Amino acid sequence: MASSAVSAATGVLDILLLGPVGAGKGTQARRIAQGYGIPHIASGDLLRKHIREGTPLGQEAQAYMESGALVPDDLVIGMILDRMHQPDATNGVLLDGFPRTVAQAQALDAELADKNRSVKLALYLRVPPDVLLDRAANRWNCRVCGTTYDYRVNPPAVAGVCDREGGELFQRADDRPEVVTERIRVYLRDTEPVVSYYRTRGILREVDGTVDIAGVTAELQRWIEQAQSEQV
Ligand code: AMP
Repeated sequence: MASSAVSAATGVLDILLLGPVGAGKGTQARRIAQGYGIPHIASGDLLRKHIREGTPLGQEAQAYMESGALVPDDLVIGMILDRMHQPDATNGVLLDGFPRTVAQAQALDAELADKNRSVKLALYLRVPPDVLLDRAANRWNCRVCGTTYDYRVNPPAVAGVCDREGGELFQRADDRPEVVTERIRVYLRDTEPVVSYYRTRGILREVDGTVDIAGVTAELQRWIEQAQSEQV
């Protein structure tokens, strides 16, 4: 894990982690964000928190999420921009699961431009559909912090209990095969254009998401460190 915190000298680090359901975005984001002194902001985790707390946003988002559809842009954009206004986001952010549509990417650009910032790096985790389905079927999540486990490759120390929060582990309803298939379809339709959006801009870096967890982390860190060195 990298230990270099982002300092004022190296500037702000705004990074995106893109990829379909089961690509490993959450797992990798949790491993990476801390080491760079920037918060990990996961749109799916924030939405699930709203649902748990029964907020109006959560109530509106729930049916979309259960069916594998995207939550409407205006709701998600407002939620993420609110989160980015928190003081811990001033050195940059690691966004996980956002943006998922070109409209979201444009809203993010506008927000960052307002602060004289821009997306430095869009990291894309490439994983084929059969692996995605298999991973989702074997994924267990902490009810408290959302950390994910797969008993085959990163089991918790105690079965059924999160290592970080001690929360109960459960399987998400939207990780059922039929919902995952729909989420992959939605990804290809709405989020692949976002990948192209950043590729065109020259800031997309693709990483093979099928190798072991530490190997993916190392490759992501390599790209982040390169981006940091370019902006000094
Ligand atoms: P995730 O935890 O990132 O896999 O997201 C779970 C679900 O939350 C998705 O299938 C969507 O229904 C919803 N969601 C998360 N992020 C977004 C987003 N950026 N835009 C729209 N819907 C989202």
